[in-house]
Amino acid sequence: MSRNKRVVSLKGKLLGGNNPILIQTMANLKTSRVEDILRMDEDLTHLGNDLLRLSVLDEKDAEAFKILSSKTSTPLIADIHFNYLFALKAIANGAAAIRINPGNIGSEDKLIKVISAAKEKGLPIRIGVNSGSLPLKYVSAKEEANAYVSALKEVIKVMEDHDFYDLVLSLKSSDPEVTYQAYKKADELFNYPLHIGVTEAGEGYVGALRSSVALVPLLKEGIGDTIRISLTDPPRDEVLAARALLKALGLIQDVPVLVSCPTCGRTQVDLLKVSKIVSKHLEGLNVNLKVAVMGCPVNGPGEAKDADLGLAGGVDSFLVFEHGKPLKSLPEEEAIRFLLSEIDRLANLKKQQKN
Ligand code: SF4
Repeated sequence: MSRNKRVVSLKGKLLGGNNPILIQTMANLKTSRVEDILRMDEDLTHLGNDLLRLSVLDEKDAEAFKILSSKTSTPLIADIHFNYLFALKAIANGAAAIRINPGNIGSEDKLIKVISAAKEKGLPIRIGVNSGSLPLKYVSAKEEANAYVSALKEVIKVMEDHDFYDLVLSLKSSDPEVTYQAYKKADELFNYPLHIGVTEAGEGYVGALRSSVALVPLLKEGIGDTIRISLTDPPRDEVLAARALLKALGLIQDVPVLVSCPTCGRTQVDLLKVSKIVSKHLEGLNVNLKVAVMGCPVNGPGEAKDADLGLAGGVDSFLVFEHGKPLKSLPEEEAIRFLLSEIDRLANLKKQQKN
């Protein structure tokens, strides 16, 4: 099975078919804080985010879409529960898509009004199932995954009965295996693009790893059209994690990679500090570049010779190298400065060669 689902458009950004997998995250601020949301969106876009989901809790949030959608080119997805009027308002105010639960949006006539408004503007609707809407006990991950798919089938039918087909589907569990099995089954059964992710995955490396357990096999099997790594961390961490995952799987190219050693008794420099500075500098660079940060010269340049650039710690100094060949040996601050300027030089060169 491969990706090749129905294509939907969010403000011209295509989702589904064989289009690139889109990265998305969700703002952790109230949507009515317009200036803060715009600042966050700018940072997230710089990091490589494609779609931004925003909660609509009240009238002010729905109203905020008017200014937000006029000031950013990022497709904004309005996330609405319980009040169909907020959905209508967000649609009228420029949302690029909405996420609803047809089961809690109110009576059928209210759902019909939302569907008609989305149809009129050509907006996709994301619908989904999560553990909250299902019974608690299952004998196996497979049985639970099947329950997700059956529940989703019913929701899809409601939308199709109203001739609405611009759907994006999600079936997120907090259990990676259930998530994997549910999406695999959904991929076989439905021709709609899939928003994949593990819900409530946790924080930091635990959340990223739990997400990877489900997402890596799915992505390797060609399943998934948009991805969110849900973390109990700032949205920028979700975007960086999603980029790193897609890059590691070879599904995006123009993202830099930092290879750095774990350090050991041979390390005589503050490698953790240096690695963090270099990592920060690489954020948002949209080029295929490999940079190595190694703790010692013994295994440093040799082990990292496939890196475009790198440095290896010595005794209170660093050797900066390019493709394994030494360039200069410098004290920490100067070495960092030199490496960062070389990264920028090479990044610009690569961009020029591409254009
Ligand atoms: S590169 Fe050097 S410092 Fe880093 S883990 Fe290997 S031997 Fe240790």
